[in-house]
Amino acid sequence: MTMTIQKPYSFIQNVHMMAETALDLMNLPDGMREQILSCNALVQLQFPVRLSDGRIHVFKGWRATHSDHRLPVKGGIRYAPHVNQEEVEALATLMTYKCAIVNVPYGGSKGGLRIDPRQYNETDLELITRRFTRELYKVNFIDPAKNVPAPDMGTGEREMAWIVDEYRRLAQRDIDYFGAVTGKPPTNGGIQGRVEATGRGVQYAIREFFRHPDDKKIAGMEGDLAGKRVVVQGLGNVGYHAAKFLSEEDGAKIIGIIEWDGAIVSQDGLNVEHVKSHIRENGGVKGFPDGTYYEKGLSVLELDCDILIPAALEGQITATNAPNISTKLLVEAANGPVTFAADKILREKSVLLIPDAYANAGGVTVSYFEWIKNLAHIRFGRMTRRLDELRWNSVVEALETMTDSPIPTHLRDKILQDDREINLVRSGLDDTMRIAYQEISEMYHSREDVKDFRTASFIVAIKKIATTYMEMGI
Ligand code: NAD
Repeated sequence: MTMTIQKPYSFIQNVHMMAETALDLMNLPDGMREQILSCNALVQLQFPVRLSDGRIHVFKGWRATHSDHRLPVKGGIRYAPHVNQEEVEALATLMTYKCAIVNVPYGGSKGGLRIDPRQYNETDLELITRRFTRELYKVNFIDPAKNVPAPDMGTGEREMAWIVDEYRRLAQRDIDYFGAVTGKPPTNGGIQGRVEATGRGVQYAIREFFRHPDDKKIAGMEGDLAGKRVVVQGLGNVGYHAAKFLSEEDGAKIIGIIEWDGAIVSQDGLNVEHVKSHIRENGGVKGFPDGTYYEKGLSVLELDCDILIPAALEGQITATNAPNISTKLLVEAANGPVTFAADKILREKSVLLIPDAYANAGGVTVSYFEWIKNLAHIRFGRMTRRLDELRWNSVVEALETMTDSPIPTHLRDKILQDDREINLVRSGLDDTMRIAYQEISEMYHSREDVKDFRTASFIVAIKKIATTYMEMGI
């Protein structure tokens, strides 16, 4: 007898199966389903770079546009050694749903360069990034009006600054050049709060969950965030900020941190800053003194906790380890950390899963604010800040004169709160995350045939995308 071994589904297959679960519950016109699922455009770029030591290296990269029902299309650029075309297509697809869920008027795109950035010095990374930008420009895949990249795994403010500078040199007559890429340093066309945005969005999503008693009941959760036991996988940009804010501002206890070289566990709670400094100095969590080290980091995903936040890679929770996952709430801070098969198992175990397309949308939301600022060519609040300050100072003065007593300091501080850019960004992000959560939760509770938050969020997204296509024409 011959046994056939089922190959695990790829990232793009998983994303499609998840979207199809939602599509099966929707009544869309013929052909719309196919249009919603397929990627509209894809480029593969191969280019040589002469590195600082004189050697020539050939690099391979991709950029995919999933849906351009709204323009520009938006999505990060990932630098990773194993990135491939299907991964980029899957991530571009998620971007389309993500933007629709959080009401950010973009289509979805994503880029990837096959490179291990740790193997190159800064000079070479700059050469490579600039050349990649020129290749994208040549094929019209970077433009403030059409396709706007952003950071993702392996890239950050530094790479975005190189990209915008290269674009500016190529498109010399484009007065909106700063809008060609987001996630730039605030001193070079960026916006305050972009670096922390995705982790901050994860925090706002979890806070909103705790405002919904019905949802807490599904997860078997009581009380508020204070003291809740959290496990985070990946202490990079997203995981670090989420863990930092949840522990420092909401009193959650980070009992486990999983990194590429193992995991650290402490039931007393880990100090996120201390773990991060240890990683910066030593390259990983191994040797961190205030916790127990586990060489098999993945096993710590199964630690008993209240909130599990995978914030590293796709495909981390599969049919193999899903039966052992012991959390009440699972928040997908990374893209695609839970496979389609695992999803089903977690649902049967009554784990409430807040899906990636919503949970990590904080980054693209603040990118949207940055892009608007770039197109407006003025920082938010520049015209109104002093006027508002005068007005609210007068209100405080009037109240104190009328009551003949000083306003308590905590209220006075709230009234006189400055509309600095960071405060405006956090306010806009908080509002965005709350409204999107409410739309998803409402969809879930209003339909018996919708069995989970992922399907609910995809229905919310696909409805908006399909409406745009129907109204604007295919
Ligand atoms: P990052 O490169 O800053 O951090 C990734 C972290 O994961 C690093 O600390 C790395 O050491 C760790 N890691 C790598 N392999 C691991 C493994 N096998 N086990 C545990 N940890 C491992 O990347 P990021 O920007 O934080 O992105 C993380 C995830 O979030 C990705 O899925 C990305 O697509 C998604 N995301 C990022 C943003 C953003 O704004 N940066 C926005 C939306 C979604």
